[in-house]
Amino acid sequence: MFRTRFAPSPTGPLHLGHAYSALLAQDMARDQGGEFLLRIDDLDQSRARMQWEEQIYDDLTWLGITWDGPARRQSEHFDGYAKTLDLLRDQGLTFECGCTRRDIEAAANAPQEGAPLFGPDGRIYPGTCRSQGLQYSQSTCTRLDMAKACTIGLPARFDESGPANNGAHALDAQTMIDNIGDVVLARRNMAASYHLSVVLDDAATGVTHVIRGEDLFEATPIHILLQNVLRLPRPQYHHHALIRDDAGKRLAKRDDARAIAKYRAEGATPQDIRRMVGL
Ligand code: GLU
Repeated sequence: MFRTRFAPSPTGPLHLGHAYSALLAQDMARDQGGEFLLRIDDLDQSRARMQWEEQIYDDLTWLGITWDGPARRQSEHFDGYAKTLDLLRDQGLTFECGCTRRDIEAAANAPQEGAPLFGPDGRIYPGTCRSQGLQYSQSTCTRLDMAKACTIGLPARFDESGPANNGAHALDAQTMIDNIGDVVLARRNMAASYHLSVVLDDAATGVTHVIRGEDLFEATPIHILLQNVLRLPRPQYHHHALIRDDAGKRLAKRDDARAIAKYRAEGATPQDIRRMVGL
C-alpha cells in the first residue's frame, strides 16, 4: 500500500509552493492506487490559528484535493510525544539544556577551525549542558545526545527519489555529530520538536512515502536516526523542487502575494494553479 501525506502548519496562508506539494503528493498517491492523508502540523500553539487551518481545508478542497480519513492534528497527540520523550530519557539518549540563544551564540563564538557552525536547525549546539545532568524543568529544553543516539541508530542508508538528491545516502555518526549535533526534541512551550513529531506521526499513520520540499532534505538524516532508535519503519523519501518567486527566492509563508486565496479572489481556476506550478 502506498500512503503519503501533506502536512502544512496552520500559521499563514497556503501559497503556490504548498499547492505544488499537495497536488504532487495527491497525484502520486492516486497514480499508485494508494492513500493521501492530510495532517495539520499545529505543534507550535503560539503561532497556529484556527483561521489558517480552516483556510487549508478550504483551499485544498477548492484545488480538487481530497484526503483519506479525517485530518490528523498534531495538537491532539501531545501525550504520545511525551511518552516517547520519557522513553528516550530513560534510555539516557537525551539531556536537559538550560542554554539561552545568547549562551549558545557566545559558546559558538570560539569554534574549532573548520567546524561547521550551522546545521539544519541553525547554530550547531556547542554541547555546554551535555554532561551537566540538569533535571527536567520549566526552563530547560530536551536535546538528543547525538553521539549516544548514533551508537544505537547508525550506520544507516536511505534512498531518495527526488530530483536534486536522487540516490542512496549513507549516514555515519561523525558526520551527524559534526554537521547536525544535539538537536532539540522538546521545549517548555512545545510538546515535541518538528523532528520528533513528524517521525512519530508518519509512523502512527503508516505513511510509506514522504513527499515534501527539498528544503527539508537536510532534516531527513535526523528522521532516519530517530526511526532507527525508536525502531519505527522507514518510509521512502522524495524531496521535490521548490516553487520560487521571480527573483529565484523560495516562497515563504509571508509571501501573501502568492497565496492561493489571492489567486482565487482574482478569478484563477484550479487548472490555472496546476499550470502555474508546472503540473
Ligand atoms: N509541517 C512541515 C512544514 O510545513 C512539513 C512536515 C514534513 O513534511 O515533514 O514544512
